Amino acid sequence: MNFLEEKICKEGVVRAGNVLKVDAFLNHRLDMELLDQMGEEFFRRFQGKGINKILTIEASGIAIACATARFFRVPVVFAKKSKSINLDADLLVAEVESFTHKTKNQVVVSKKFLSADDKVLIIDDFLANGCALQGLISIVKASGGSVAGIGIAIEKGFQVGGKTIRNLGYPLESLAIVDGMDAETGEIVFRTQEDEKNEVVG
Ligand code: 5GP
Repeated sequence: MNFLEEKICKEGVVRAGNVLKVDAFLNHRLDMELLDQMGEEFFRRFQGKGINKILTIEASGIAIACATARFFRVPVVFAKKSKSINLDADLLVAEVESFTHKTKNQVVVSKKFLSADDKVLIIDDFLANGCALQGLISIVKASGGSVAGIGIAIEKGFQVGGKTIRNLGYPLESLAIVDGMDAETGEIVFRTQEDEKNEVVG
């Protein structure tokens, strides 16, 4: 088990409806040492790709993106959730359905903070059905920039997002992939490296 999987086992809580609560270290209280380790690991996996900007979505992606940016020494831009219908022409916009709240939000990034020469690393806390990621990818595309990588803390491998994004050809790296979880027993099953190889082949 890697450092994040261990932490999830120790402090994560499985809730009904396929929700994993990680409030104790990622979504409410922040474990800064763990965040540092995550940032360093994303740096190890994506360095050398010319990344000059990190993009995430408020709120829970911000801390991970900042921890990662300290290793890359690049700025972080976070997409803001906006209810407003009167959107400015100087905004890049995508529609994102929230997995946890089941609501639709427009997420926006100012055009002045993303541009055609940007090589972007997208970071987020969870990957479930891939809606948040698809929104961020479309914002990068609209800016004319390119997606150099996608780093996710926790992927729920039993939901479709990971497969969809990988099939689209994006370099997606998740630090922990949960292949199954049981709200009654609290059991969490992680994908091993061996499973990952089989997943690529299969
Ligand atoms: P997706 O758009 O991939 O369906 O869902 C990703 C977003 O939903 C993430 O940004 C995260 O905030 C939230 N999310 C999805 N699944 C979970 C979960 O099991 N636990 C928590 N805490 N957030 C989740």
